[in-house]
Amino acid sequence: MQADMPKVVTRFAPSPTGFLHIGGARTALYNWLFARHHGGDFLLRIEDTDRKRSTEPAIEAILKGMTWLGLDWDGDAVSQFARAGRHKEVAEAMLAEGKAYRCFASPEELNAARETARENGENFRGDLWRDRDPAEAPEGAAYSIRIRMPREGETTIEDRVQGPVTVRNSELDDMILLRSDGTPTYMLAVVVDDHDMGVTHIIRGDDHLNNAFRQYQVYAAMGWHIPEFAHIPLIHGPDGKKLSKRHGALGVEAYEEMGFLPEAMRNYLLRLGWSHGDAEIISTDEAIAWFNLEHVGRSPARFDFDKLDNLNGHYLRALDAKSLLSSVRSALEKHIGHSLDPSEEERLLAALPSLAERAKRLPDLTESASLFCNTRPLSLTDDAARQLAAEILPVLGRLADNLEAVTEWETGVIKAAIMSFAEAEGLKLGKVMQPVRAAVTGGRPSGDLVETLAILGQAETIGRLRDRIAA
Ligand code: GLU
Repeated sequence: MQADMPKVVTRFAPSPTGFLHIGGARTALYNWLFARHHGGDFLLRIEDTDRKRSTEPAIEAILKGMTWLGLDWDGDAVSQFARAGRHKEVAEAMLAEGKAYRCFASPEELNAARETARENGENFRGDLWRDRDPAEAPEGAAYSIRIRMPREGETTIEDRVQGPVTVRNSELDDMILLRSDGTPTYMLAVVVDDHDMGVTHIIRGDDHLNNAFRQYQVYAAMGWHIPEFAHIPLIHGPDGKKLSKRHGALGVEAYEEMGFLPEAMRNYLLRLGWSHGDAEIISTDEAIAWFNLEHVGRSPARFDFDKLDNLNGHYLRALDAKSLLSSVRSALEKHIGHSLDPSEEERLLAALPSLAERAKRLPDLTESASLFCNTRPLSLTDDAARQLAAEILPVLGRLADNLEAVTEWETGVIKAAIMSFAEAEGLKLGKVMQPVRAAVTGGRPSGDLVETLAILGQAETIGRLRDRIAA
């Protein structure tokens, strides 16, 4: 960064008409990383100008989603609606300078003009009053304020992702800035807010690229500095089609519910459209150090649940026992129907790291962790019930007696006790281990059996064996 370069300011500007979806979350992440990389500010603006479609629960979902993802913003979130007075002021300033004009056309007249333009294969420009004298309008008639778009020449945006993109000015319409009811349009509000908030880089989905040309003209008309634009290709489904719900176009909270960790989600979203050589696992510190706009891909990235699962598995394995426990605690307590007691916590701290080796999402871990909780008598899967046929139960009873005599409850000793028991009974080791596993796990996924018994403890193990005999 050059010393005289102004401080970088980015923003995320969601419309609160629904949850924070995955595309929005990625846009927010890129803006956050860009600002953090440059030691700048990352601002949050809620674009709630559309009063009919904006809702309070949607605002909450956005703030919650950002917080969950760890994307902290600088200062307070700005409400666009609260700035309507300022938007109006700018529209009037443009009017006073002849950069905008009053349009008295009725909706019917505009529709007719739109229809005619379509029939003639021309662009509809909405410019019915561009060259008319407002004095011709009836007394007190309602009017909107429209921008007087340049007709000659071209506008080129040096997009930081798309490269130079040019449009002929004759293609741009005299869009409305202020509606006849005095409310600002998005096209006006977004420019005024970005200007007033000192935004230097606008990083957003490329569905806004066409808007950028029109917004550019508002900056130009006001003589304002034009920010840098970076339009990121949208996210597609694995089949290359536009992302739909089926593909994973869900709210961030749905990913939280599915059991993904925020750090895995950040890593995944980062790589979904940006790369750093062939690095796949990128910590947040590395992401801040490395993030740039040059390596944002130009073609749409494809959403891939398998990759997300793999990354999540990686981040799960990286957690220590304590963090694993706090990640599963509330779901686990709900699952088993009681708060964890100290003996359960102790077992879980011992068991979770190896359980995490096989888990992809938190619910997998919750399920396997429940095995180490006090939930006697365990319910059995059909498979476990089959392995606990009547004739094997006396064997389990004798094994329980044997295990009771074990004085040092640790893997080597437990294993030796089971082996000598099998030998004395004239049974293959597997013939003993299978029903033990069924009785002790109820058929739930579990790791090494002897290790499981060791963690469960002597009393709990024997209790689970005896529960089957008593059943
Ligand atoms: N509010 C717009 C949206 O949610 C974004 C506007 C912008 O980033 O310029 O699509």
